[in-house]
Amino acid sequence: MKHRNQVFDNVLDLVGNTPLIKLNKIASKFKGNFYAKVESFNPGHSSKDRIALYIIEQAEKKGILSPGDTIIETTSGNTGFSIAMVSIIKGYDCVLAVSSKSSADKIDMLKTMGAKVYVCPAHVSADDPRSYYQVAKRLHDEIKGSVYINQYFNELNIDAHYKSTGPEIWKQTEGKITHLIACSGTGGTISGTAKYLKEQNSNIKIIGVDAYGSVIKKYHETKEFDEKEIYPYRIEGLGKNLIPTATDFDVIDEFVKVTDEESAHTAREIAKTEGLFVGYTSGAAMQAIKQLGAQGEFKKSDNVVVIFPDHGSRYMSKVYSDKWMNEQGFFDSINEASAQNIQY
Ligand code: PMP
Repeated sequence: MKHRNQVFDNVLDLVGNTPLIKLNKIASKFKGNFYAKVESFNPGHSSKDRIALYIIEQAEKKGILSPGDTIIETTSGNTGFSIAMVSIIKGYDCVLAVSSKSSADKIDMLKTMGAKVYVCPAHVSADDPRSYYQVAKRLHDEIKGSVYINQYFNELNIDAHYKSTGPEIWKQTEGKITHLIACSGTGGTISGTAKYLKEQNSNIKIIGVDAYGSVIKKYHETKEFDEKEIYPYRIEGLGKNLIPTATDFDVIDEFVKVTDEESAHTAREIAKTEGLFVGYTSGAAMQAIKQLGAQGEFKKSDNVVVIFPDHGSRYMSKVYSDKWMNEQGFFDSINEASAQNIQY
């Protein structure tokens, strides 16, 4: 591992080895010690740097990729940014099929990072040839020597965290971690990290965070896919309307569901109390801790680690916009709005 006072060969040398930062205020009314694994310290500002670098390097090791080849994925979010960053340094073409729902800012950001972006209609079914899934598959078939990252169905996503995030947390807590709290989107972060931690100490409790409107928690409990659980929600990056194979349900002890509104307020509270400017799902994960703490989950000697997956700057037009919060009805009283020093 290189230290920050050394010279780095390129930006990819800085992927991983993110800090574990003690949370001193936001959970102080609960028993236990709370620490955040702050993934915005990755050079692409999210945990997705780990999987982009790992999956691409595995393909290189297998001899599938050579310079000038193409990497394909269906995302306008953090994974797209990370793949674009890795592609620049390693000399690959990065092709991203994204939904027309993606903001212009996000698309511009990906283009700035050298990606070729295909904008596909949002309101068509996944099997429609125009959908971003089908466009990505078609491009993968057509472009010789291309690699399709396919993060929801790629088990290397779990491996990336098994080999990096898990060992880092074990070392940083000197083996004293008692609980891991992490959002589950593809499930790669929680599954890989949990698998490593449980191998060291099977008593560590692994708690996944899911959204209301997602099938994941119910599936974990019943092993049945219940379509009634699915409805639209606002938090991007956690929960899903399908069951990803990048989630290993056996290493997760339980799931906690959180609301859009409480997660948004908690994300803002993290900034105001801890000085950490992190994304919407960090708010969701912290919200889960609040719910668990209120139920008496933690005791004094516990060491609870929560993963904060990305940086707040990606949410300026959402959670960190007073206008957006107000439009969602999240500032539900005049008092609350005035407490935030805003006028409507
Ligand atoms: N938070 C954010 C902002 C994300 O983009 C993701 C990935 N979809 C997650 C959390 C969840 O991580 P994972 O996909 O590894 O479950």
